[in-house]
Amino acid sequence: MRPISATIDLAALRHNYGVARRLAPGAAALAVVKANAYGHGIARAARALADAGGFAVVELDAAVRLRETGFEQPIVLLEGFFEARELSVIREYRLSTVVHSFEQLEMMRGLPAGRAIDVMVKLDSGMNRLGFPPGDIKAALEQVKANPAVGAITLITHFANADDEKGVQWQLERFERATAGQAMARSLANSAAILRHPQTHADVVRPGIMLYGCSPFAGTTGADVDLKPVMTLASEIIAVRDLAPGEAVGYGGAYTAETAQPIGVVACGYADGYPRHAPTDTPVLVGDRLTRTLGRVSMDMLTVDLSGVPEARVGTRVVLWGEGNPVEHVATAAGTVGYELLCALAPRVRIIEKA
Ligand SMILES: *Cc1c(COP(=O)(O)O)cnc(C)c1O
Repeated sequence: MRPISATIDLAALRHNYGVARRLAPGAAALAVVKANAYGHGIARAARALADAGGFAVVELDAAVRLRETGFEQPIVLLEGFFEARELSVIREYRLSTVVHSFEQLEMMRGLPAGRAIDVMVKLDSGMNRLGFPPGDIKAALEQVKANPAVGAITLITHFANADDEKGVQWQLERFERATAGQAMARSLANSAAILRHPQTHADVVRPGIMLYGCSPFAGTTGADVDLKPVMTLASEIIAVRDLAPGEAVGYGGAYTAETAQPIGVVACGYADGYPRHAPTDTPVLVGDRLTRTLGRVSMDMLTVDLSGVPEARVGTRVVLWGEGNPVEHVATAAGTVGYELLCALAPRVRIIEKA
């Protein structure tokens, strides 16, 4: 069997959800499980978080499957619906939906009488992606309130800079000004805001990346904020070579040895979800030693420096990211974020659940 696998630590997932709950004790916490639970497997993640206050996804079919599986808590569509005919599915499966545009309100106006749909009306407080601009939110809310097909209404907004120096205050002030006097629940905080900006916790928080043990803050890891990694992508050395000085390795010969040097070939490549753009020097754990990748990542293999790892052999365990080699460090070396690496885990990688 090809030795690559991703271990998903369900206790760590539950621990991380507990961290979100503890930080925002007065708020309901929607576990964000979009994108197949950030690559961890949505059915598995939801099962581990069966007591969650709710789930949030982007994919209608995923929401339907959660409901069919028997979860009874709120299930929210964070990007809303795209066509009027999805509304009957939303209704049938008692899903909640974000509403961010007048086009969506128009589609909702055409709904026949029936079970009311809970909505989260989205204000664009400065991210300039989805949501009603502050000048339109009152009119939008009037339409929503007047629609008999609408049940509970929650106000929602999303932060562009909760993880960086610019912070949330500027958006928070716009949100508060635009929604003053509206007597309804409010949801603002993603992981970064849960961790760093308690003034945003309000009634409903939306932890995503933190559930998976990954820090949203540049230059830190989940461990710095009491999170535990959930996914460990591991494989093995499947060949060992000794490079002579001047010899190059892999496609394009992108790395050339200056001195004699042992290298290991690892059964993991971009078809497993490892980023092809990870350059030489991306951290990798071989046995219990941190070393680095060398040269280009290919489809099924990558190569690692064994200079400081004399005990490495064919069969030595390699952690690409996770326990002992934080995904944040790998992401930084590869010029991306942990989110992208976790979400990109390929279907061909065998999953091992750790209870
Ligand atoms: C994905 C998403 C979240 C979760 O964000 P994280 O940074 O992963 O915590 C929260 N809210 C909305 C609207 C989202 O789309």
